[in-house]
Amino acid sequence: MAQRAVKKNAITSDGIRSGFLSHLTHTIGRPLEFSSMVERYHALSHTVRDQLMEQWIQAVESYKNKNVRVVGYLSAEYLPGPHLMNDLQALDATESCREALVSLQVDLDDLAREEPEPGLGNGGLGRLAACFMDSLATLGVPAIGYGLRYEFGIFRQEIRDGWQVERTDKWLQFGNPWELPIMDASFEVGFGGRTETYTDDSGLVRWRWIPGRKVRGVPHDTPVPGYRNGFVNRLRLWSAEAVDSFDLSDFNAGDYMGAVRQKVESETISKILYPSDDNDAGKRLRLAQQYFFTSCSLQDMVRLHKLQGKPITEFHQKWSIQLNDTHPSIGIPELMRILLDEELLGWEEAWEITQATFGYTNHTLLPEALERWSLPLFAALLPRHLEIIYEINERFLDRMRNRFPGDADRIRRMSMIGEEGERTVRMANLAVVGSKAVNGVAELHSDLLKQSTLRDFYEALPDRFSNKTNGVTQRRWMMLANPPLSSLINEAIGTKWHTDLWELRELERFVSDSAFLERWRRTQEATKAKLSQYIEETQGIKTDPQSIFDIQVKRIHEYKRQHLNALHILSLYCQLKGNPNVTFTPRTFIFGGKAAPSYVMAKLIIKLICTVGDLVNNDPDVKGRLKVVFLPDYNVSLGQRIYPAADVSEQISTAGKEASGTGCMKFQMNGAVTIGTLDGANVEIRKEVGQDNFFLFGLTTQDIDQITQKGYRPQEFYERSSKLREVIDGLSEGRFSRGDREVFRPMLDQLLNVDPYFLLADFDSYTSTQAQVGAAYADAKRWNRMSILNSARSGKFSSDRTIREYCSDIWKVPVPSSSGAPKNTTPNPQTKRRSK
Ligand SMILES: *Cc1c(COP(=O)(O)O)cnc(C)c1O
Repeated sequence: MAQRAVKKNAITSDGIRSGFLSHLTHTIGRPLEFSSMVERYHALSHTVRDQLMEQWIQAVESYKNKNVRVVGYLSAEYLPGPHLMNDLQALDATESCREALVSLQVDLDDLAREEPEPGLGNGGLGRLAACFMDSLATLGVPAIGYGLRYEFGIFRQEIRDGWQVERTDKWLQFGNPWELPIMDASFEVGFGGRTETYTDDSGLVRWRWIPGRKVRGVPHDTPVPGYRNGFVNRLRLWSAEAVDSFDLSDFNAGDYMGAVRQKVESETISKILYPSDDNDAGKRLRLAQQYFFTSCSLQDMVRLHKLQGKPITEFHQKWSIQLNDTHPSIGIPELMRILLDEELLGWEEAWEITQATFGYTNHTLLPEALERWSLPLFAALLPRHLEIIYEINERFLDRMRNRFPGDADRIRRMSMIGEEGERTVRMANLAVVGSKAVNGVAELHSDLLKQSTLRDFYEALPDRFSNKTNGVTQRRWMMLANPPLSSLINEAIGTKWHTDLWELRELERFVSDSAFLERWRRTQEATKAKLSQYIEETQGIKTDPQSIFDIQVKRIHEYKRQHLNALHILSLYCQLKGNPNVTFTPRTFIFGGKAAPSYVMAKLIIKLICTVGDLVNNDPDVKGRLKVVFLPDYNVSLGQRIYPAADVSEQISTAGKEASGTGCMKFQMNGAVTIGTLDGANVEIRKEVGQDNFFLFGLTTQDIDQITQKGYRPQEFYERSSKLREVIDGLSEGRFSRGDREVFRPMLDQLLNVDPYFLLADFDSYTSTQAQVGAAYADAKRWNRMSILNSARSGKFSSDRTIREYCSDIWKVPVPSSSGAPKNTTPNPQTKRRSK
């Protein structure tokens, strides 16, 4: 039925052509021949958005009246990537669009290049939220993605003399044709002030909050289309405005500057994304941002709930809210405040509704990365919420004292208020207690959460915990990013994999078909050649598409160990210098990723990579067999060029540090083979592809626990390994940095004395496994087989599977079957050990 409806509304080339010309005239105000590329891009985007709006309104109508539960996904970050090509693909209109533009001598790809990408996130967490939005719409699940409309997203990265330089991201400077401000759905959000009690009509004592100031939140909605199913959800991002742009009393009193200052202060809330991917931007403004978007979102959900004439006591039946990390966990006391102070419910009832509404996804094990707010700061900004948190805490700890009598340490650890040193509010503890479900993002991570970071809570509330292994959308990361490979797969096994990635298993039929193996290889080589061309154009570095493309792209962080990769390259370099005629499989190492601006060691890692690049790219003894490229400003668009071109995927974090990782999945589905540790989703990738198709190395989490207990001495590993000494000594003596002995000193000191991420302990294992990678690549048939099997066995890692699991286990929302989506959820043996 849905199928026929789409056909009926099929988007024709003529329709696009007239829409495009009309928008050029009426929206942009330019004749075609005098219009710039940006103007044409805007006209086309409006044309596409028109198509989405019709479906959007249909979708809203279809679920507004029915008794369906809606998912509210709360995330401080979204990295959706460019919309144009994705939305055309979803509408099945790419070809008619291309045709329409050709008839006007305009090239679609030229226009697509004009789109700035919304950089409203730092890395994996924000990209996950975007993949989830794509899957929700494709599965036909009604959902609203709520977040912040940062005026300046993640900084643009430039590299000067090997060092990262940050530039402002002005993604909105030419306007954003994809969003629609919804002025009449704006809300006021309070900050500061005081609370007071009063007696209501029935003689009950009640609380109310008298905020010291207010800020207005205005929603900007971006349509999120499902894949060819006529369904459109929305991404609703809040922008902060002054409540009144001029405070007339100030103005009349002659304080013009004071009135303007208030406006500016209000608007700073949605000005800028904090460029740290691991929290602890312990900033007052960041807490204000979190409360601002969470409060707007909850007020919006309550409004939509009431529009349907539903009593507030049924709120949890209409809405399921997911907290993407603790950033929106202030939503728990905020919903309590709304229910208690505004809806005048009693505590017990309010708490039942609140707890039945929220689910919390944890994204980190690192205790230092769990969000905590200084108590005085919190009290000053959100006094009423602090009172509510105290009450939640008291009631919870009373229960726990009954459960664990005499265990004062445990009670102290579980408290929402940290008492060690400065008093703090512990957001993870609040999130666990206030949610019906808590999940980790990969099997290993969920297990470790239960054993370490959230152990006390797991022991008290075992049924609340589960795992939801992350996934990514194949529609962006294969179909959009890698058209040649997608066509080859379509030809071989049909197109069901577009909405059911398990279908890729059908590719296994071809692993012994040498003609197919050869086509697979040629397709990948063509993709590598394209990246090679991009590298030459942008970096002026020549690379050989026949060499191994060995790629590590992700945020720069010590735990992700880009410097381990760099040390290995230096070791290869030493090998070539020692014997220039050694047989050697040529390799191109490609890096990309941003460092948090204040993270000194991460910036030094970038400098190291660039220094190694300067060294090996220009040394005649290397004879072009080693190339090292750092591609600046890694983002979704660049990722779409890079993931498809990889032979080798570097997933080399210290075991136990990467919660899941999703980059690993994007590489795998495009046929790259992983070299990795037993960390995050690597464990599950290896389980799916089989140990013969995965290059495993390094310490396990258990090994690391043992070494740590005995006392880890990195010096010993340095003394034991001649290869490692050669590299470390060379760096120390300035042999790789034109005689500069000081530049990498802080890194070397840290590695030799502390090495918190166990690089030296893992170095030998890593380099010998890399040697196996080189040998395997030299056997083209073996490699092609491994590559196909990696792609064929990536079905589990579609975000469609992840979202189905959230829908059935946490949100309790049905997945409509008319979406053309697959029926089989995970054939995952892991789901049975639940009751305990
Ligand atoms: C997928 C993705 C990430 C996450 O990469 P990991 O390897 O999982 O850390 C970060 N940034 C961008 C732009 C991505 O597309």
